[in-house]
Amino acid sequence: MPRLDRRSPSVLLTLNDTLLLIDCGEGTQFALLEYKIKVSKIRYVLLSHLHADHCMGLFGLLSTFNLQNRANPLTIIGPYGIRELLHTLCSVTNTIWKYPLELVELPADVVCHPVEELSFTVSTFPLRHKLPCIGYKVQEKRSTFSLDKRKLPEDLPGDWIGKLAKGEAVAWSDGRTLTPEEVAFPAPPRRSFAYCSDTDFDLTLSEHLLGIGTLYHEATFDDSLKDRARLTKHSTASEAAAVAKQSRVKELILGHFSSRYASVELLEQEAKNIFPRTIAAYDGFETDIMPTSID
Ligand SMILES: [Zn+2]
Repeated sequence: MPRLDRRSPSVLLTLNDTLLLIDCGEGTQFALLEYKIKVSKIRYVLLSHLHADHCMGLFGLLSTFNLQNRANPLTIIGPYGIRELLHTLCSVTNTIWKYPLELVELPADVVCHPVEELSFTVSTFPLRHKLPCIGYKVQEKRSTFSLDKRKLPEDLPGDWIGKLAKGEAVAWSDGRTLTPEEVAFPAPPRRSFAYCSDTDFDLTLSEHLLGIGTLYHEATFDDSLKDRARLTKHSTASEAAAVAKQSRVKELILGHFSSRYASVELLEQEAKNIFPRTIAAYDGFETDIMPTSID
């Protein structure tokens, strides 16, 4: 449940000029206003599952886009059921979207690769929860290679430089080949982010999370409520930390705290005992996404 000082979960990722909104609980629109986010730049909305605290802000936000005469395309990605949900809401409220809106429904039990942009990709992985629930991974791509001119062979045709910079290998008629890696400066580390909410404790998630830079993981309960976590298919802060440790991520961000906690210091401390590089998020918390640790 929300509290006056803590809204339903939602994460906004900024990738250069592209914004991705992950989950859209009640109150997300107000948060976007409060933090002065240019909502027309939201290109993707990724929904983990259809429990109310993760998706009930969506229809309001989409309706605002209509009122703002949005023209940019928007893609909503999430589990099966979104189409029916939005269709029903549109039908009873007589709403027609005035901007290009694409819905991508995905199976929650397999890995999918719904987004391939020039500079990043989005892939999904299964979470264990009471409803079909999708985890998301957003990974930066290396789109161009910065070539070290000193390493370029003298007989390299001029138009091959562009090919190498784009990541293509080139080959001479005498059989010699050259790959971009051979003549490029070492690449800057690529950043990566993963989102796990909501989920029962699941160490096998590390298959999907290995080396992720920044991991957001739900932490609904403290250690004393482990049984309740199993019953409701949620995680404790310590369990989130165990997943982060096993996955060798760089940083763990905790969120989705039960409204019974006015302060989440205890949860943060319990997680830090297992995985020191842990931060408990609060409304408006901002951080730089870390580079992938295993590339
Ligand atoms: Zn849920």
